[in-house]
Amino acid sequence: MTDIAVIGGGIAGLTAAIYAVRAGKQVTVIEKDCLGGQIIYSPMVENYPGIPRMSGEIFAEHLQEQAEELGASIEYGEVVEIEKEEDHFVIRYEEEIRSKAVILALGAAHRKLGLEGEEDLTGCGVSYCAVCDGAFYEGMDVAIVGGGNTALQDALFLSNTCSSVTVIHRRNEFRGDDRLVKQLEKRHNVHYLMSHLVSGLNQTDGEFSGITVRNLQTGKEEQLPVKGLFVAVGQSPQTKAFAALAQTDKAGYLVAGENCESSTPGIFIAGDCRTKEIRQLTTAAADGAVAALAACSYIG
Ligand SMILES: Cc1cc2nc3c(=O)[nH]c(=O)nc-3n(C[C@H](O)[C@H](O)[C@H](O)COP(=O)(O)OP(=O)(O)OC[C@H]3O[C@@H](n4cnc5c(N)ncnc54)[C@H](O)[C@@H]3O)c2cc1C
Repeated sequence: MTDIAVIGGGIAGLTAAIYAVRAGKQVTVIEKDCLGGQIIYSPMVENYPGIPRMSGEIFAEHLQEQAEELGASIEYGEVVEIEKEEDHFVIRYEEEIRSKAVILALGAAHRKLGLEGEEDLTGCGVSYCAVCDGAFYEGMDVAIVGGGNTALQDALFLSNTCSSVTVIHRRNEFRGDDRLVKQLEKRHNVHYLMSHLVSGLNQTDGEFSGITVRNLQTGKEEQLPVKGLFVAVGQSPQTKAFAALAQTDKAGYLVAGENCESSTPGIFIAGDCRTKEIRQLTTAAADGAVAALAACSYIG
């Protein structure tokens, strides 16, 4: 039996492992895909304090090395079930392990538009995070697609530094808060394409060169030669399998406060899969530390 099983090897899970092994606990991290999580898709991270510039891939490698060198065990597989049994949990993936406490650090995936070339252009013209990548587009024309609070907040954020921001939304009204819409209306460099969708990502010589948008009322298409497209059409946490152990909100995020405690004693939630306002490396790392120390004191 291990002391703490960490499900998910992104920054939240690996930070939790680092803190828990340094507190003298036996830790097993179970990762279904790539250690490092979402950040491996980022060509450059510039906002992690103490690390001025580093590619997401190298950042992830450092995380893995640090956790392994300190003594965390890594297992690969997709955890599909966790069951409580008396004073411990049974964690099922391709194998089965028992653990006194569990940290769910499952992350969340950004919803994609499903357009041709989208994956290749991610980080090279297409971004899912204005806070992460906005600075790379200073003084340039960009577009943002989405109509909820994230899209509106991102548009406000980008309008501070970008030359112009075109907000593209498939409905003729925003779903986000009126307060944000009013703030946005005061920005002179923000333009709107309501009842429009992004129908294509344009490339010239293999490089992103703008987008094609379609007017949903007329069916007419036009090209926008923007330098960057920010996609803010939601995130989807993959938490369904764990809903019996930890309460989820409407969007599927696992409910826990700043102390990372779930509705089940012994189960802790860390990182982007937790209900919270800001989903970033720093906030995920902070959760990892908090969840690990809470799990250590739960075990005693
Ligand atoms: C392209 C891109 C660029 C970004 N740039 C920045 C940036 O510059 N700065 C910044 O602060 N943030 C950035 N972010 C956001 C940042 O990456 C996330 O906030 C952070 O990675 C969240 O960490 P996490 O550990 O909570 O989740 P994740 O990184 O998503 O890790 C979760 C891990 O859990 C695994 N997992 C999920 N379910 C299971 C299961 N059932 N069994 C086993 N494993 C499972 C997943 O495979 C994944 O590896 C960026 C995100 C993207 C996509």
